[in-house]
Amino acid sequence: MKAVLIRKHGGPEVLEIADLPKPKAEAGQVVIRVKAAGMNHLDTWVRRGLPGVTPPLPMVLGSDAAGLIEEIGPGVTGLEAGDRVFVAPGFSCGRCAECCSGNDPLCRDYGILGEHRNGTQAEYAALPAANVMSLPDGLSFEEGAAFPLVFLTAWHMLVGRARVRLGEDVLVQAGGSGVGTAAIQIARLHGARVFTTVGSDDKMARVRELGAEAAINYRTADFLEEVRRLTGKRGVDVVIESIGQQTWERSLKALARGGRLVTCGATSGYRAETDLRFVFSKGLSLLGSTMGSRAELLKIARLVGERRLKPVIDRVLPLERVADGHRAIAERSLFGKIVLKP
Ligand SMILES: [Zn+2]
Repeated sequence: MKAVLIRKHGGPEVLEIADLPKPKAEAGQVVIRVKAAGMNHLDTWVRRGLPGVTPPLPMVLGSDAAGLIEEIGPGVTGLEAGDRVFVAPGFSCGRCAECCSGNDPLCRDYGILGEHRNGTQAEYAALPAANVMSLPDGLSFEEGAAFPLVFLTAWHMLVGRARVRLGEDVLVQAGGSGVGTAAIQIARLHGARVFTTVGSDDKMARVRELGAEAAINYRTADFLEEVRRLTGKRGVDVVIESIGQQTWERSLKALARGGRLVTCGATSGYRAETDLRFVFSKGLSLLGSTMGSRAELLKIARLVGERRLKPVIDRVLPLERVADGHRAIAERSLFGKIVLKP
């Protein structure tokens, strides 16, 4: 079978379309026929390698997918060959106190498909049975492969961590990213007003269509000044941060008194400076967030199935063009998600 494989870290040139043996379903697993596989910013981190983080190599990339169950392994019940499913990107032990209290990403054994074990960008994927969930009726495979990781990330940041409330103001950094397009919609669904940053004028109209009140082109305007203007100098209650170093100090300054900043990533670098005077004098909360729980993912899937949340797909590419996808993510020349078709 075809699969997107890396054998070493590096630029897009290390991406290989490998011919691998079709996987077999071991005990507790299912094999799915992948009909669509999502790409994420995470793919580029795994490809490049992170200091101190060493994913096992070789690795099949990909955290998101949707498809059909092909084979059921021994001991698996409640699923049948031919079922339409989407893939839950995270896995954990399912038995520890964190897992049992709905904090799966805090499990010691927590991992993400395509980072800690072989992922989904292939014609077939063998997965723990717990990682396949029923694809809501009416959703295409492409949509099913586009929502899980980014909506789960954004939902946990806004709802699980920041506890966004009716009437609040939220700043979403990088509103045209996968997480950004999800965060705008989730904040609106909870009754918040959303301001968001984008990197080009053509994305401004698109984020407003998703429900953003105002879009700020961070290349031509200072988002901090704009947030102060838009809120009458009050600042926002919540900032959704994924940029890191480049924006961190101004994201903190954009918060109103008692505001919460939630970070899920650092695409521009992770050595950010924090002026602690703002943190204590304004009573700010700095919250970390990674992924989200299975319970949250099930709730999201229902809302996506009801069309109350909408996966945003920039383009669908054949698996062979995965390197183009990596370049587009690096250049930020996309709006929403790239989906691969094996
Ligand atoms: Zn656990």
